[in-house]
Amino acid sequence: MSYNYIKDDRITGKYVSYNHLNNILLDYNKWLSKTGYSENNLPIPLYQIGKGDVRILLWSQMHGNESTTTRALIDIFKIFSEQDYLFYNCELYIIPMLNPDGANLYTRENFNHIDLNRDAINLSQKESLFLRSVFEDVKPDFCFNLHDQRTIFGVGEKPATVSFLAPAADESRRLTEPRTKAMKLIVELNNYLQELIPNQVGRFDDSFNANCTGDQFTLLGVPTILIESGFFPNDYQREETRKYVALSILKALELINNNTFEKNTVKEYFKIPENHKNFRDFCFIDDISGEKFYFQLEEQLIGDRIIFTPKIVEGTQQNYYAHNTYSLSDIYPKKFSQREVIIDYILEYLTKEVQKYNSY
Ligand SMILES: [Zn+2]
Repeated sequence: MSYNYIKDDRITGKYVSYNHLNNILLDYNKWLSKTGYSENNLPIPLYQIGKGDVRILLWSQMHGNESTTTRALIDIFKIFSEQDYLFYNCELYIIPMLNPDGANLYTRENFNHIDLNRDAINLSQKESLFLRSVFEDVKPDFCFNLHDQRTIFGVGEKPATVSFLAPAADESRRLTEPRTKAMKLIVELNNYLQELIPNQVGRFDDSFNANCTGDQFTLLGVPTILIESGFFPNDYQREETRKYVALSILKALELINNNTFEKNTVKEYFKIPENHKNFRDFCFIDDISGEKFYFQLEEQLIGDRIIFTPKIVEGTQQNYYAHNTYSLSDIYPKKFSQREVIIDYILEYLTKEVQKYNSY
């Protein structure tokens, strides 16, 4: 049993506003279960799909500028509406956009500048309270906490296109039963993704922070899987990564439905390479001196478009991998010049070059 992946072309690119998403979600009102409200009073719909003994809670975009997993969920909605629902043991509870105010503003934080993923104990925000109330009502057997990670994350010499974490339940990071269950599931997801994006799957750092939602829910006894959508070469809008995330979620649901992942060991989980902040977007190497100039793209919301602007990575003696590497002589005609002049020249070149990554 498996699904054919379909992309919902009505929604593309990193900027996903509440209105844009809501127009599409209207098609799925038959699954609407209940609605919470954000600090600035935007609706936060929860959808329920399927009937079964195993309850699975998924939420996306608790960080407003992390829409890749939301787009993956919309693809899954489309797939379920066009193909038979196959997970007959599973009942899904899905919040596609937990932070609609942050989504509109394209900020990580919510309307009150609070990071909702550092609010799991305080529960100071309406969004956090809504998620917690859904968690308590649903009593999920599994949770999926869905995010984006920056382009700086790599696995060795490859970008970390997808990263996973089974969050720790306490400072000692011991292997509690729920955590172990999440790890075994992740092992299988990694095996699956290695066929599609070899060596581009990472394991996220497991430092414990009880104020992080995934850590808190693991502490409360529910296996929680964090999925971080990362960079795929030249895919700054994360339309390629979106597909791998949708496929990973579908695979996870299949594995839970069929209960075919518990044979794995946690040893295999720790064999998944850790991701590191070892990448930068661009590197220009001075052919003569060997000096490396690194540049990172910053995102800015202008109207309803995301515009990328290159910025020099200052003061770095460290070597990074880069998503794109150039010899300075490829673009820079002069042999000798001051550092500042070279940097300005590259910035001018890159500003034009990266326009192709801007959303349409
Ligand atoms: Zn995030």
